[in-house]
Amino acid sequence: MASVKLTNVKKIYGKNTLAVDNFNLDIADKEFIVFVGPSGCGKSTTLRMIAGLEDISGGTVEIDGVVVNDLQPRDRDIAMVFQNYALYPHLSVFENMAFSLRLKKVPQDEVYKRVTEAAEILGITEYLTRKPRALSGGQRQRVAIGRAMVRDSKVFLMDEPLSNLDAKLRNQMRAEIILLRKKIDTTFIYVTHDQTEAMTLGDRIVIMKDGLIQQVGTPTEVFDMPCNLFVAEFIGAPKMNTFKTELLLENGKYYVTPFGAKIEVTGDKAKGLAEKRVGTREIVLGVRPEHFVLSKQGDPCAISCQILVNEMMGSELHLHVLVGDNEKIIVRIPTVSLTDEQRRSLVQGTTIYVTFEGKVMHFFDEESQTNLLV
Ligand code: ADP
Repeated sequence: MASVKLTNVKKIYGKNTLAVDNFNLDIADKEFIVFVGPSGCGKSTTLRMIAGLEDISGGTVEIDGVVVNDLQPRDRDIAMVFQNYALYPHLSVFENMAFSLRLKKVPQDEVYKRVTEAAEILGITEYLTRKPRALSGGQRQRVAIGRAMVRDSKVFLMDEPLSNLDAKLRNQMRAEIILLRKKIDTTFIYVTHDQTEAMTLGDRIVIMKDGLIQQVGTPTEVFDMPCNLFVAEFIGAPKMNTFKTELLLENGKYYVTPFGAKIEVTGDKAKGLAEKRVGTREIVLGVRPEHFVLSKQGDPCAISCQILVNEMMGSELHLHVLVGDNEKIIVRIPTVSLTDEQRRSLVQGTTIYVTFEGKVMHFFDEESQTNLLV
Protein backbone atom coordinates (compact mmCIF):
# COMPACT_ATOMS: atom_id res chain seq x y z
CA MET A 1 0.00 0.00 0.00
CA ALA A 2 1.25 3.47 -0.81
CA SER A 3 -1.24 6.23 -1.16
CA VAL A 4 -0.06 9.84 -1.18
CA LYS A 5 -2.22 12.72 -0.05
CA LEU A 6 -1.43 16.41 -0.34
CA THR A 7 -3.65 18.83 1.56
CA ASN A 8 -3.44 22.61 1.04
CA VAL A 9 0.26 22.27 0.28
CA LYS A 10 2.10 25.53 -0.19
CA LYS A 11 5.69 26.49 -0.96
CA ILE A 12 7.14 29.94 -0.53
CA TYR A 13 10.81 30.37 -1.47
CA GLY A 14 12.60 33.13 0.44
CA LYS A 15 10.29 35.90 1.59
CA ASN A 16 7.72 36.03 -1.15
CA THR A 17 8.21 33.67 -4.12
CA LEU A 18 4.98 31.68 -4.01
CA ALA A 19 5.96 28.59 -6.04
CA VAL A 20 3.02 26.30 -5.13
CA ASP A 21 -0.26 27.14 -3.47
CA ASN A 22 -3.40 25.36 -2.38
CA PHE A 23 -2.28 22.00 -3.79
CA ASN A 24 -4.81 19.28 -2.96
CA LEU A 25 -4.53 15.80 -4.38
CA ASP A 26 -5.30 12.22 -3.37
CA ILE A 27 -3.06 9.72 -5.15
CA ALA A 28 -4.27 6.13 -4.92
CA ASP A 29 -2.05 3.13 -4.26
CA LYS A 30 -0.35 2.01 -7.52
CA GLU A 31 -1.63 4.99 -9.45
CA PHE A 32 0.57 6.65 -12.11
CA ILE A 33 0.17 10.40 -11.65
CA VAL A 34 1.80 12.97 -13.93
CA PHE A 35 2.37 16.61 -12.98
CA VAL A 36 2.53 18.62 -16.19
CA GLY A 37 2.75 22.30 -17.04
CA PRO A 38 5.08 24.93 -18.49
CA SER A 39 8.48 25.60 -16.97
CA GLY A 40 8.28 27.34 -13.60
CA CYS A 41 4.72 26.26 -12.77
CA GLY A 42 5.79 24.43 -9.59
CA LYS A 43 5.92 20.77 -10.68
CA SER A 44 9.42 19.99 -9.41
CA THR A 45 8.87 21.93 -6.22
CA THR A 46 5.80 19.82 -5.45
CA LEU A 47 7.65 16.60 -6.22
CA ARG A 48 10.60 17.69 -4.09
CA MET A 49 8.29 18.46 -1.18
CA ILE A 50 6.88 14.92 -1.44
CA ALA A 51 10.46 13.57 -1.53
CA GLY A 52 11.49 15.67 1.47
CA LEU A 53 14.09 17.62 -0.52
CA GLU A 54 12.26 20.93 0.08
CA ASP A 55 10.61 22.19 3.25
CA ILE A 56 6.85 22.47 3.08
CA SER A 57 5.71 26.04 3.83
CA GLY A 58 2.10 25.08 4.55
CA GLY A 59 -0.28 22.13 4.46
CA THR A 60 0.48 18.44 4.83
CA VAL A 61 1.93 15.60 2.79
CA GLU A 62 0.85 12.12 3.86
CA ILE A 63 2.20 8.78 2.70
CA ASP A 64 -0.08 5.90 3.63
CA GLY A 65 -1.95 8.11 6.05
CA VAL A 66 1.17 9.24 7.92
CA VAL A 67 2.08 12.93 7.81
CA VAL A 68 5.68 13.06 6.54
CA ASN A 69 6.26 16.83 6.60
CA ASP A 70 9.03 16.51 9.17
CA LEU A 71 10.49 13.18 8.07
CA GLN A 72 13.93 13.05 6.44
CA PRO A 73 13.94 11.92 2.77
CA ARG A 74 15.53 8.59 3.72
CA ASP A 75 12.71 7.86 6.15
CA ARG A 76 9.93 8.40 3.61
CA ASP A 77 10.39 5.14 1.70
CA ILE A 78 10.50 6.82 -1.70
CA ALA A 79 12.81 6.46 -4.69
CA MET A 80 13.58 9.28 -7.07
CA VAL A 81 14.94 9.47 -10.62
CA PHE A 82 16.22 12.86 -11.74
CA GLN A 83 16.66 14.50 -15.12
CA ASN A 84 20.47 14.41 -14.94
CA TYR A 85 20.88 10.94 -13.67
CA ALA A 86 24.25 11.59 -12.01
CA LEU A 87 25.76 8.12 -11.95
CA TYR A 88 29.05 7.57 -10.12
CA PRO A 89 31.62 7.47 -12.97
CA HIS A 90 34.15 5.33 -11.08
CA LEU A 91 31.63 2.60 -10.19
CA SER A 92 30.35 -0.17 -12.44
CA VAL A 93 26.71 -0.29 -13.44
CA PHE A 94 26.20 -3.05 -10.85
CA GLU A 95 27.75 -0.97 -8.05
CA ASN A 96 25.85 2.15 -9.13
CA MET A 97 22.63 0.20 -8.81
CA ALA A 98 23.73 -1.44 -5.57
CA PHE A 99 24.88 1.81 -3.95
CA SER A 100 21.88 2.53 -1.71
CA LEU A 101 21.65 -1.13 -0.67
CA ARG A 102 25.31 -1.13 0.37
CA LEU A 103 24.67 1.96 2.50
CA LYS A 104 21.80 0.13 4.16
CA LYS A 105 24.06 -2.87 4.75
CA VAL A 106 21.75 -5.19 2.84
CA PRO A 107 23.32 -8.71 2.74
CA GLN A 108 25.40 -9.47 -0.36
CA ASP A 109 23.15 -12.22 -1.77
CA GLU A 110 20.11 -9.94 -1.44
CA VAL A 111 21.99 -7.09 -3.21
CA TYR A 112 22.90 -9.50 -6.01
CA LYS A 113 19.31 -10.69 -6.34
CA ARG A 114 17.75 -7.23 -6.43
CA VAL A 115 20.30 -5.72 -8.83
CA THR A 116 20.21 -8.63 -11.27
CA GLU A 117 16.40 -8.72 -11.20
CA ALA A 118 16.16 -4.98 -11.90
CA ALA A 119 18.81 -5.25 -14.62
CA GLU A 120 16.84 -8.06 -16.22
CA ILE A 121 13.61 -6.03 -16.25
CA LEU A 122 15.45 -3.03 -17.74
CA GLY A 123 17.41 -5.08 -20.27
CA ILE A 124 20.83 -3.95 -19.03
CA THR A 125 22.17 -7.28 -17.70
CA GLU A 126 24.97 -7.33 -20.25
CA TYR A 127 26.24 -3.92 -19.11
CA LEU A 128 26.47 -4.65 -15.38
CA THR A 129 30.27 -4.70 -15.37
CA ARG A 130 30.68 -1.59 -17.51
CA LYS A 131 31.37 1.93 -16.28
CA PRO A 132 28.71 4.57 -17.05
CA ARG A 133 30.92 6.33 -19.62
CA ALA A 134 30.75 3.22 -21.80
CA LEU A 135 26.94 3.48 -22.04
CA SER A 136 24.61 5.43 -24.32
CA GLY A 137 22.26 8.08 -22.90
CA GLY A 138 19.33 5.69 -22.91
CA GLN A 139 21.31 2.96 -21.17
CA ARG A 140 22.47 5.42 -18.49
CA GLN A 141 18.89 6.45 -17.93
CA ARG A 142 17.96 2.79 -17.45
CA VAL A 143 20.71 2.44 -14.85
CA ALA A 144 19.36 5.50 -13.04
CA ILE A 145 15.88 3.93 -13.04
CA GLY A 146 17.39 0.62 -11.90
CA ARG A 147 19.16 2.35 -9.04
CA ALA A 148 15.81 3.62 -7.84
CA MET A 149 14.03 0.30 -8.50
CA VAL A 150 16.29 -1.84 -6.30
CA ARG A 151 15.23 0.14 -3.27
CA ASP A 152 11.77 -1.42 -3.44
CA SER A 153 10.20 1.83 -2.36
CA LYS A 154 6.56 2.56 -1.75
CA VAL A 155 6.56 5.56 -4.08
CA PHE A 156 8.58 6.14 -7.24
CA LEU A 157 9.20 9.80 -8.11
CA MET A 158 10.52 10.82 -11.52
CA ASP A 159 11.51 14.38 -12.42
CA GLU A 160 11.74 14.88 -16.20
CA PRO A 161 13.61 11.56 -16.54
CA LEU A 162 13.57 11.63 -20.35
CA SER A 163 14.34 15.24 -21.12
CA ASN A 164 18.06 14.64 -21.70
CA LEU A 165 17.40 12.05 -24.39
CA ASP A 166 16.96 12.69 -28.10
CA ALA A 167 13.45 12.51 -29.56
CA LYS A 168 13.68 8.93 -30.84
CA LEU A 169 15.11 7.56 -27.63
CA ARG A 170 12.55 9.53 -25.63
CA ASN A 171 9.72 7.78 -27.50
CA GLN A 172 11.34 4.41 -26.91
CA MET A 173 11.93 5.03 -23.20
CA ARG A 174 8.37 6.32 -22.84
CA ALA A 175 7.12 2.97 -24.10
CA GLU A 176 9.54 1.20 -21.76
CA ILE A 177 8.27 3.14 -18.76
CA ILE A 178 4.73 2.03 -19.63
CA LEU A 179 5.94 -1.59 -19.61
CA LEU A 180 8.07 -1.05 -16.52
CA ARG A 181 5.10 0.30 -14.67
CA LYS A 182 3.32 -3.02 -15.17
CA LYS A 183 6.33 -4.85 -13.73
CA ILE A 184 7.00 -2.63 -10.69
CA ASP A 185 3.92 -2.63 -8.57
CA THR A 186 4.17 0.78 -6.98
CA THR A 187 2.84 4.32 -6.96
CA PHE A 188 4.43 6.63 -9.54
CA ILE A 189 4.56 10.41 -9.53
CA TYR A 190 6.12 11.72 -12.73
CA VAL A 191 6.98 15.31 -13.63
CA THR A 192 7.20 16.54 -17.21
CA HIS A 193 6.62 19.69 -19.27
CA ASP A 194 5.71 17.49 -22.25
CA GLN A 195 2.00 16.99 -22.73
CA THR A 196 2.54 13.91 -24.92
CA GLU A 197 4.44 12.19 -22.10
CA ALA A 198 1.71 13.19 -19.68
CA MET A 199 -1.07 11.91 -21.92
CA THR A 200 0.60 8.59 -22.70
CA LEU A 201 1.91 7.74 -19.23
CA GLY A 202 -0.58 9.06 -16.72
CA ASP A 203 -3.58 7.29 -15.23
CA ARG A 204 -4.40 10.83 -14.19
CA ILE A 205 -2.77 14.11 -15.12
CA VAL A 206 -2.38 17.16 -12.89
CA ILE A 207 -2.09 20.26 -15.06
CA MET A 208 -0.42 23.19 -13.31
CA LYS A 209 0.10 26.87 -14.04
CA ASP A 210 1.69 29.55 -11.85
CA GLY A 211 1.84 27.24 -8.82
CA LEU A 212 -1.82 26.30 -9.00
CA ILE A 213 -3.57 23.12 -10.12
CA GLN A 214 -5.74 23.89 -13.12
CA GLN A 215 -7.30 20.47 -13.63
CA VAL A 216 -6.90 16.88 -12.49
CA GLY A 217 -8.27 14.11 -14.67
CA THR A 218 -7.64 11.11 -16.89
CA PRO A 219 -6.03 11.89 -20.26
CA THR A 220 -9.43 11.48 -21.91
CA GLU A 221 -11.15 13.78 -19.44
CA VAL A 222 -8.69 16.63 -19.80
CA PHE A 223 -8.60 16.26 -23.59
CA ASP A 224 -12.37 16.03 -24.06
CA MET A 225 -13.43 18.48 -21.38
CA PRO A 226 -10.64 20.95 -20.56
CA CYS A 227 -11.81 23.11 -17.66
CA ASN A 228 -10.37 26.34 -19.04
CA LEU A 229 -8.59 27.88 -22.02
CA PHE A 230 -5.16 27.23 -20.54
CA VAL A 231 -5.74 23.47 -20.29
CA ALA A 232 -7.48 23.44 -23.68
CA GLU A 233 -4.45 24.97 -25.37
CA PHE A 234 -1.84 23.08 -23.33
CA ILE A 235 -3.17 19.57 -23.95
CA GLY A 236 -3.10 18.40 -27.57
CA ALA A 237 -0.66 19.12 -30.37
CA PRO A 238 -0.86 21.18 -32.49
CA LYS A 239 -2.79 23.23 -29.96
CA MET A 240 -6.51 23.85 -30.02
CA ASN A 241 -7.66 26.74 -32.23
CA THR A 242 -9.68 29.35 -30.36
CA PHE A 243 -11.62 32.26 -31.74
CA LYS A 244 -14.28 34.69 -30.58
CA THR A 245 -17.70 34.08 -32.05
CA GLU A 246 -21.39 34.02 -31.23
CA LEU A 247 -23.34 31.12 -29.80
CA LEU A 248 -26.93 31.30 -31.05
CA LEU A 249 -29.96 29.66 -29.45
CA GLU A 250 -32.71 29.37 -32.09
CA ASN A 251 -35.86 27.28 -31.66
CA GLY A 252 -34.19 25.09 -29.06
CA LYS A 253 -31.11 24.45 -31.19
CA TYR A 254 -27.63 25.84 -30.67
CA TYR A 255 -25.41 27.14 -33.46
CA VAL A 256 -22.01 28.76 -33.65
CA THR A 257 -21.25 31.34 -36.30
CA PRO A 258 -17.48 31.50 -36.87
CA PHE A 259 -16.26 33.55 -39.85
CA GLY A 260 -19.63 33.67 -41.60
CA ALA A 261 -20.45 29.96 -41.27
CA LYS A 262 -23.36 28.59 -39.27
CA ILE A 263 -22.71 25.22 -37.63
CA GLU A 264 -25.15 23.38 -35.39
CA VAL A 265 -23.96 22.15 -32.00
CA THR A 266 -24.84 18.47 -31.58
CA GLY A 267 -24.56 15.52 -29.21
CA ASP A 268 -23.53 15.92 -25.57
CA LYS A 269 -22.30 19.42 -26.23
CA ALA A 270 -25.79 20.59 -27.23
CA LYS A 271 -27.31 18.73 -24.27
CA GLY A 272 -24.79 20.28 -21.92
CA LEU A 273 -25.57 23.81 -23.10
CA ALA A 274 -29.31 23.19 -22.67
CA GLU A 275 -28.84 21.74 -19.19
CA LYS A 276 -26.82 24.78 -18.15
CA ARG A 277 -29.51 26.96 -19.74
CA VAL A 278 -26.96 28.87 -21.80
CA GLY A 279 -28.60 31.49 -24.05
CA THR A 280 -27.39 33.39 -27.10
CA ARG A 281 -24.08 35.01 -26.16
CA GLU A 282 -20.52 35.82 -27.15
CA ILE A 283 -18.10 32.96 -26.56
CA VAL A 284 -14.58 31.84 -27.25
CA LEU A 285 -14.99 28.77 -29.42
CA GLY A 286 -12.34 26.04 -29.33
CA VAL A 287 -11.82 23.49 -32.11
CA ARG A 288 -8.86 21.13 -32.27
CA PRO A 289 -6.88 21.07 -35.55
CA GLU A 290 -7.75 17.40 -36.15
CA HIS A 291 -11.46 18.11 -35.88
CA PHE A 292 -11.56 20.21 -39.04
CA VAL A 293 -12.52 18.61 -42.34
CA LEU A 294 -12.43 19.95 -45.86
CA SER A 295 -15.73 21.36 -47.11
CA LYS A 296 -17.06 23.07 -50.25
CA GLN A 297 -17.81 26.60 -51.30
CA GLY A 298 -21.52 27.31 -50.84
CA ASP A 299 -21.99 24.95 -47.90
CA PRO A 300 -23.53 27.08 -45.08
CA CYS A 301 -21.19 25.29 -42.64
CA ALA A 302 -18.07 26.16 -44.64
CA ILE A 303 -15.42 28.59 -43.45
CA SER A 304 -13.39 30.16 -46.21
CA CYS A 305 -9.67 30.35 -45.53
CA GLN A 306 -6.41 30.88 -47.30
CA ILE A 307 -3.43 28.56 -46.98
CA LEU A 308 -0.36 30.23 -45.48
CA VAL A 309 1.82 27.18 -44.94
CA ASN A 310 1.32 23.51 -45.76
CA GLU A 311 3.42 21.35 -43.46
CA MET A 312 3.63 17.81 -44.79
CA MET A 313 4.04 15.58 -41.74
CA GLY A 314 3.84 12.28 -43.61
CA SER A 315 0.60 10.74 -42.42
CA GLU A 316 -1.05 14.14 -42.14
CA LEU A 317 -0.93 17.70 -43.38
CA HIS A 318 -0.82 20.64 -41.01
CA LEU A 319 -2.37 23.52 -42.89
CA HIS A 320 -1.75 26.93 -41.34
CA VAL A 321 -4.55 29.05 -42.75
CA LEU A 322 -5.80 32.61 -42.52
CA VAL A 323 -9.47 33.20 -41.69
CA GLY A 324 -11.65 36.27 -41.14
CA ASP A 325 -9.63 39.35 -40.22
CA ASN A 326 -6.23 37.73 -40.52
CA GLU A 327 -6.72 35.20 -37.74
CA LYS A 328 -4.50 32.16 -38.01
CA ILE A 329 -5.71 28.65 -37.35
CA ILE A 330 -4.23 25.20 -37.89
CA VAL A 331 -6.12 22.46 -39.68
CA ARG A 332 -4.87 18.88 -39.55
CA ILE A 333 -5.88 16.64 -42.43
CA PRO A 334 -4.99 12.92 -42.70
CA THR A 335 -3.19 12.44 -46.02
CA VAL A 336 -5.05 9.19 -46.74
CA SER A 337 -8.31 11.16 -46.87
CA LEU A 338 -7.09 13.25 -49.82
CA THR A 339 -7.07 12.50 -53.53
CA ASP A 340 -3.78 13.07 -55.35
CA GLU A 341 -5.32 16.09 -57.02
CA GLN A 342 -6.38 17.56 -53.66
CA ARG A 343 -2.88 17.04 -52.29
CA ARG A 344 -1.37 18.87 -55.22
CA SER A 345 -3.84 21.75 -54.91
CA LEU A 346 -3.24 22.50 -51.22
CA VAL A 347 -0.49 25.05 -51.78
CA GLN A 348 0.26 28.44 -50.30
CA GLY A 349 -2.21 31.12 -51.34
CA THR A 350 -5.02 28.70 -52.28
CA THR A 351 -8.47 29.38 -50.86
CA ILE A 352 -10.00 26.33 -49.22
CA TYR A 353 -13.21 25.65 -47.30
CA VAL A 354 -13.23 23.85 -43.98
CA THR A 355 -15.79 22.95 -41.36
CA PHE A 356 -16.10 20.83 -38.24
CA GLU A 357 -18.65 18.61 -36.60
CA GLY A 358 -21.06 19.93 -34.02
CA LYS A 359 -20.00 17.51 -31.30
CA VAL A 360 -16.33 18.47 -31.13
CA MET A 361 -16.59 22.12 -30.13
CA HIS A 362 -15.52 23.67 -26.83
CA PHE A 363 -17.12 26.82 -25.41
CA PHE A 364 -15.31 29.24 -23.11
CA ASP A 365 -16.18 32.48 -21.37
CA GLU A 366 -13.78 35.14 -22.57
CA GLU A 367 -13.42 36.91 -19.25
CA SER A 368 -13.14 34.00 -16.82
CA GLN A 369 -11.54 31.71 -19.47
CA THR A 370 -13.56 28.81 -18.05
CA ASN A 371 -15.34 26.10 -20.02
CA LEU A 372 -19.08 26.83 -20.07
CA LEU A 373 -19.85 23.12 -19.65
CA VAL A 374 -17.61 22.38 -16.65
P1 ADP B 1 8.81 23.58 -12.71
O1 ADP B 1 9.32 22.31 -12.12
O2 ADP B 1 7.35 23.52 -13.03
O3 ADP B 1 9.61 24.08 -13.86
P2 ADP B 1 9.74 24.74 -10.23
O4 ADP B 1 9.01 23.97 -9.20
O5 ADP B 1 11.15 24.39 -10.49
O6 ADP B 1 8.91 24.72 -11.58
O7 ADP B 1 9.68 26.27 -9.85
C1 ADP B 1 8.49 26.93 -9.45
C2 ADP B 1 8.82 28.38 -9.12
O8 ADP B 1 9.66 28.43 -7.98
C3 ADP B 1 9.54 29.12 -10.22
O9 ADP B 1 9.08 30.45 -10.24
C4 ADP B 1 10.98 29.06 -9.79
O10 ADP B 1 11.71 30.17 -10.26
C5 ADP B 1 10.86 29.11 -8.27
N1 ADP B 1 11.96 28.40 -7.61
C6 ADP B 1 12.30 27.08 -7.78
N2 ADP B 1 13.33 26.73 -7.00
C7 ADP B 1 13.66 27.86 -6.30
C8 ADP B 1 14.66 28.16 -5.30
N3 ADP B 1 15.50 27.20 -4.86
N4 ADP B 1 14.68 29.42 -4.81
C9 ADP B 1 13.81 30.36 -5.24
N5 ADP B 1 12.86 30.14 -6.16
C10 ADP B 1 12.78 28.91 -6.69
